[in-house]
Amino acid sequence: MMDSLSSLAVSFDDVLLTPQYSNIRSRSEISLSIDLENIPAMRLPIFSSPMDTVTEEDTAHEIARSGGIGVVHRYNTPDEQAEIVSRVSEKFSETSTEGYRTIGAAIGVTGDYIKRAHKVFQAGARLICVDVAHGDHILAVEAVKNIREVFGNTVHIMAGNVATVSGFDTLARAGANSIRVGIGGGSICSTRIQTGHGMPTLQSIIECSASEWAGDVKLVADGGIKNSGDIVKALAAGADAVMLGSLLAGTNETPGEPITRNGKTYKSYRGMASIEAQIDWRGHASSEEGVSTTILSKGPIKNVLGSLEKGIRSGLSYTGALNIVEFQNKAKFMRISTAGMSESKTHILDK
Ligand code: IMP
Repeated sequence: MMDSLSSLAVSFDDVLLTPQYSNIRSRSEISLSIDLENIPAMRLPIFSSPMDTVTEEDTAHEIARSGGIGVVHRYNTPDEQAEIVSRVSEKFSETSTEGYRTIGAAIGVTGDYIKRAHKVFQAGARLICVDVAHGDHILAVEAVKNIREVFGNTVHIMAGNVATVSGFDTLARAGANSIRVGIGGGSICSTRIQTGHGMPTLQSIIECSASEWAGDVKLVADGGIKNSGDIVKALAAGADAVMLGSLLAGTNETPGEPITRNGKTYKSYRGMASIEAQIDWRGHASSEEGVSTTILSKGPIKNVLGSLEKGIRSGLSYTGALNIVEFQNKAKFMRISTAGMSESKTHILDK
């Protein structure tokens, strides 16, 4: 039982990637696209989190235009969620034929989840996300199997979250096409404090990417990604894509009204297991595993995604890789000390 205590888990800030020779003349030569089972390839490996302060109609529409996928949250009735999905589908017909058009929708693992899946499918969702906090669980396995049985290969099934390779294998074996990896690392998450469980997200990515299913089943790093550098590290460690909450929260397109305080504008961002969110969506709170906060408004999501994309392209170019698979093969990590970490952060302002 205590054997595992001899290994040290690493997180994003514990490591850096070693710069390597590059013969890439322009970052526009770099492809960030990834193939996904049963739906068109993504051009930008970014999913938005299925949270009620992150993904509804406008986020899903705009992120698709940038080449990523928005996963519409499930904290409403099946009809309300289907209505959001159908409004995104309508916007795609109304707008130009260019661009990426996949919409994701989250479902739970109990109650009316099959009915919910039917409704969002009819409304146009082709990525169904089996969305639970502890995905290495019998109910998640059954839900993935049931969705596959009902929808066959007409949908891409995302499932999670898991922290370990055995959790990854369990959901892959059940039929998931992509798996959210990361437990307890979310910026609004208090699972580790509340339950003592979790694993630094980078460590989970490293472990899960060793699965025999990895590659065929896509690994989506989720929770604790603070900047484009963390996205680059996640991809280097074996993630095929990332899922973002806080980095997209506070943009114009996220749900919720702007709040003005002392001349500044903020938007709410909250964990779906925070007391506030639980009371809003189910009328009562059970285990509190998240917090609620406000985030300074960030303007259009397109600008945030654009800046993240530039950072990722630049990241691949520092390793000299033209695409994500080549990057994963070439990337070299090193562990850094606390002094190394201080040097990594801009430090002129500390003086
Ligand atoms: P962030 O990108 O670090 O803000 O993390 C977002 C991720 O946190 C989501 O995609 C979920 O996996 C996770 N999450 C959302 N709500 C909660 C919560 O209340 N408790 C724990 N994790 C959460």
